[in-house]
Amino acid sequence: MTIQADNKTIEQLEKWQHPYMELYRRLLGLKVEDSHLPTLNSHIEEIVKKFSQANHTLQLEDLLPGWEPLEKLLQQTSSIIAEYSPDTNLALKKLIAQPSIIKRGAKAWYQYSTLHSIADEIGIDWEMLSLCFQAAVHPILIRYSEALSPLIIQDSWRQRTCPICGGKPDLAFLSKDNGARWLVCSHCDTEWLFFRLECPFCGNRDQDSLAYLTNGSELYRLYTCEQCHKYIKAMDLRHAEGEVLFPVERVLTLDMDRQAHEAGYEPGWIATEPSSEN
Ligand SMILES: [Zn+2]
Ligand SMILES: [Zn+2]
Repeated sequence: MTIQADNKTIEQLEKWQHPYMELYRRLLGLKVEDSHLPTLNSHIEEIVKKFSQANHTLQLEDLLPGWEPLEKLLQQTSSIIAEYSPDTNLALKKLIAQPSIIKRGAKAWYQYSTLHSIADEIGIDWEMLSLCFQAAVHPILIRYSEALSPLIIQDSWRQRTCPICGGKPDLAFLSKDNGARWLVCSHCDTEWLFFRLECPFCGNRDQDSLAYLTNGSELYRLYTCEQCHKYIKAMDLRHAEGEVLFPVERVLTLDMDRQAHEAGYEPGWIATEPSSEN
């Protein structure tokens, strides 16, 4: 995924006159502030050098030469979200006023730990808080994905986590040319080649407990696993017309998430259980 693809996504989402689409479009339009770019870009160059020497997935601290770019993005994200959901305004103001909460929250989000305790602390729904971090970290992560994706050796990775940020997948696709299954990172949109018949969350390979449902057009699939009861949405690009933009598809397929949930499956990329340490 690239910054150019993000721009195309925004154009696509503009065609949909739904408030939700508008919110996503505006969040995807967020960019690292120009004044932070020189430092960030030279930091990315350093990381590219390290990454090409030893493929290691990036920690949140690796991404940031300092916290200022993320703090600025969080301010922007918060004010956009508060426009669409005014009852979050107070909580989000609390968040951006406290760097220590920002750091704890961003680290928890990045590691897929639950955000329940931090959300309770500032008085917001944890899903809204997660959206806030997702939207704020994305403009930074996408720059790493763009710089590092060409260095991934696809045939030798095949793990259940993103080769760049260690994130979990939230979308899959079957490639147009040979139907191979790829995963898309829920955090940085990096795409990586994966096994066709393995659960991307628990590694289950028992074919009797893996299944997929498909819609009439055969474009969309819902892969489910009976071992971990997780699901992942997928697109069969052999049945796709034109270019498919995954950030658009994430939003357009929200109804599939509802259907999966009603059928008793959980998304594999979201920490949904309340933390036991409170
Ligand atoms: Zn990633
Ligand atoms: Zn599983």
